[in-house]
Amino acid sequence: MTNVAKRLKTVRNDLFSAEQKSGRERGSVTLVAVSKTHDQATISEAIEAGQSVFGENRVQEAMAKWPALKEKYPNVELHLIGPLQSNKCAHAVALFDVIETIDREKIAREISREIAKQGADPKLFVQVNTGAEPQKAGVAVEETAEFVRLCEEEYDLNISGLMCIPPFNEEPGPHFECLAQLAGECGLAELSMGMSGDYVTAIEHGATQVRVGSAIFGERQVFKAE
Ligand SMILES: *Cc1c(COP(=O)(O)O)cnc(C)c1O
Repeated sequence: MTNVAKRLKTVRNDLFSAEQKSGRERGSVTLVAVSKTHDQATISEAIEAGQSVFGENRVQEAMAKWPALKEKYPNVELHLIGPLQSNKCAHAVALFDVIETIDREKIAREISREIAKQGADPKLFVQVNTGAEPQKAGVAVEETAEFVRLCEEEYDLNISGLMCIPPFNEEPGPHFECLAQLAGECGLAELSMGMSGDYVTAIEHGATQVRVGSAIFGERQVFKAE
C-alpha cells in the first residue's frame, strides 16, 4: 500500500468514527481530498485507493493537472476551494463540479453568466468569513443571509450550502457552530468545514463535507506546471 493509500485509510476510519460518535449516518460526510501542490502521480495514488472527490485552491494549477486526470478517471468530482477572480470564472465553471467560494456579487454575476453560457450545473457554496479576518475571503456573517438571497433571486444561482475556514489560531468549534446556525437560517443543507487538524470537530458540528489535505498527502509541495 502506498503512503497516500495508508493515510487515506486512517482518515476514512477517523471520519467513520466521528460520524458514528455524532449520530450521523455512515457515509453521510463527504471527504474532499485537497490535492493542491501535489502532482498527478500522487493524486492518481489516491484515486486508485478509491478516493473520488478532490479539492484544489487555484484555478490555474487545477487547469494544469486535472483535464488529463478527469479524462482518465471520469468519475472524479472536483471542488474549487480557493478564492475566485472574475476573469477565472469561465475556466472555473468549465473545470469544477463544485465551486465553494462564491463570496461577492461580481463573482455571483460572472458565475451565473458562465453557467448559462456553458449549460453547466456546478454545485455552489457561499464562503463565509466567520472570523471577520481582513485578509481572508468570504462574506461577513451578518451579510450572509442577504447575500444568499441575492445569489438566488438576482442571479438565479442554486446555493447548496456554506463554507468557512476558521482563523488559524482560534478554537474552530465556535466558528463551525456559527456556520451551522447561519446555514439553518438560510435554509441551506450543506456545510463545508473542517481540515486536517479539525475535521472531527467539524463533523460533530454538522459538517456535510470536510476538506482534508496534509493528513492524506503529507506536507505540501511547491507545485510546478509541466
Ligand atoms: C489547503 C486547504 C485545505 C486543506 O488543509 P489541510 O490543513 O492540509 O488539511 C482545506 N481548505 C482550504 C480552503 C484549503 O485551502
